[in-house]
Amino acid sequence: MTPIKYLTIHCAATPEGRDVKAATITQWDKDKFGQTSYHWVIELDGSMHRTLQDNQRGAHVGGNNTGNIGICYVGGVDAKMKPKDTRTPAQKATLRTLIRTYQERYPGIVIRGHRDWPKVQKACPSFDVAAWIKEGMPA
Ligand SMILES: [Zn+2]
Repeated sequence: MTPIKYLTIHCAATPEGRDVKAATITQWDKDKFGQTSYHWVIELDGSMHRTLQDNQRGAHVGGNNTGNIGICYVGGVDAKMKPKDTRTPAQKATLRTLIRTYQERYPGIVIRGHRDWPKVQKACPSFDVAAWIKEGMPA
């Protein structure tokens, strides 16, 4: 089994407040990429939905999906589709729980935002992951 080394945070790039479900995001990815992209999707109400097992390869960072867990929160853009940290307090709390779980399960795991990977020209996940973790992952 491939060791898990990375955890990458994404946003769904859906407008603030639009209650898109995990099943819908998974269907979009299947239609677009032929497979499920993420391991977890966090809906607006903070509920987390497992969409891939950890030992299944995702499709969420170009060329860097081996041993890389993908977590996607619903939202990430404003009404005009401009990047915005739209995470609800419930989504932040769930993201914190998931990050802590992976840190315990895979010591030394590297956690970053999609945009923190080299050569990525995206705003995803619309917030500074390293800064948020440093602040203690407040909701
Ligand atoms: Zn992304």
